[in-house]
Amino acid sequence: MGRVEASVDTTSFRPDEEFARRLDADDPLRAFRDEFEIPRRPDGEDVIYLCGNSLGLQPKAARRLVEQELDDWARRGVEGHFTASTPWYSYHEQFREAGARLVGARSGGGAEEVVMMNSLTVNLHLMMVSFFRPSGERRAILTDWPTFPSDIYALKTHLVTRGLDPGADLIFVRPRDGEHVVRPDDLDEAIAREGKRVALILMNGVNFLTGQAFDLRRITRAGHEQGCLVGFDLAHAAGNVELHLHDWDVDFACWCSYKYLNAGPGAVGGCFVHERHGRDTSLPRYAGWWGNDPETRFRMQLEPDFVARGDVEGWQLSNPPILALAPLRASLEQFSRAGMPALAAKSRALTAYLRYLLEHADESGGGWFEIITPREPGAHGCQLSVLVHDDPRGRYRALEEAGVVCDFREPNIIRVAPVPLYNTFHDAWRFARILTRQSR
Ligand SMILES: *Cc1c(COP(=O)(O)O)cnc(C)c1O
Repeated sequence: MGRVEASVDTTSFRPDEEFARRLDADDPLRAFRDEFEIPRRPDGEDVIYLCGNSLGLQPKAARRLVEQELDDWARRGVEGHFTASTPWYSYHEQFREAGARLVGARSGGGAEEVVMMNSLTVNLHLMMVSFFRPSGERRAILTDWPTFPSDIYALKTHLVTRGLDPGADLIFVRPRDGEHVVRPDDLDEAIAREGKRVALILMNGVNFLTGQAFDLRRITRAGHEQGCLVGFDLAHAAGNVELHLHDWDVDFACWCSYKYLNAGPGAVGGCFVHERHGRDTSLPRYAGWWGNDPETRFRMQLEPDFVARGDVEGWQLSNPPILALAPLRASLEQFSRAGMPALAAKSRALTAYLRYLLEHADESGGGWFEIITPREPGAHGCQLSVLVHDDPRGRYRALEEAGVVCDFREPNIIRVAPVPLYNTFHDAWRFARILTRQSR
């Protein structure tokens, strides 16, 4: 996103199974699949799991890491805060570097830009307390449509609690009539037109429904030129596309860790605050003791005044849920080892291949579906959103019966996400064959 990316050479693709096998044999990341628990069908065969955009699969290492914490708790009780094999008091610190690497943030020198904490919607609220500061005519929030329900609820909450009117002060930038995704030029134009009344631009990195990836650097620059603060919901972007939040000058961002990050249902989310804001300890915020300067944190009733840490960790509230954080160790270790550039390169090839198979098959089949996710490099991640014109529910049910795990969004969109850590080109081949009914 936001950089010139090599596009995949699709002219060499072929539709036969042998070719899919060959792509897998040449895949430098293929060994990662064995590090995951792959759900099975009743007949014992692996399901075709294309739902990593909703809930990532379990890294096998996660179980041992959770058991380690249960053991430490059993054996050490409260002493585990300081004597556990990974002491709980500083547990969140082990995610600093890997978390920063994942989203292109800074780490070290007492000025962290990423912390893993809470869940996504909670973090959106915390960020808006600090970064939605309407004043005078500048009081609107601008976001993209379609918008995830939890995000709309959160945005409206902050308008209503500041006495503003969501009907007037919540601006949606929508696809044009008859189109499915937002044109980047329309977004620029909306920011230029509305910018002076916008206090906060809060956009998706990758849209949950359409799979469209936005150019975050371009949006950030356009927003800053208008005097807006710019934050992103990276639920569908973290672990999916390459991010350079610090260099792009993004003000803040939040994400969850159970989709592309494979850290388990309801996993602890992540939060980025640019160091220039992190340093500003006078920013209004909802304060809690874990965001307080560690020097005075335990002086309790002796220090009733909150003294924020001078970085993103100053937004932490509570001592973190260790059992919920443990799987994140397994997850981020894998992302560090594989590296986002390599994952993104495989992802581009995998998604281009799936698109090719679907389009190739449909040449003869005739227009009963269309892929609404943009084709351009940089404008999509793993996910392809397939809009089905003819019997969408029936088609989805047939996929389920054939052992495909993907999802259906009312009224007619099937979302499929081949993820580079554990999906194979053969998965894409099997899925395309089933969807296009060649095997029925
Ligand atoms: C998945 C997702 C959420 C979920 O929020 P939680 O607080 O983690 O339950 C919110 N917004 C978007 C855009 C999402 O994709």
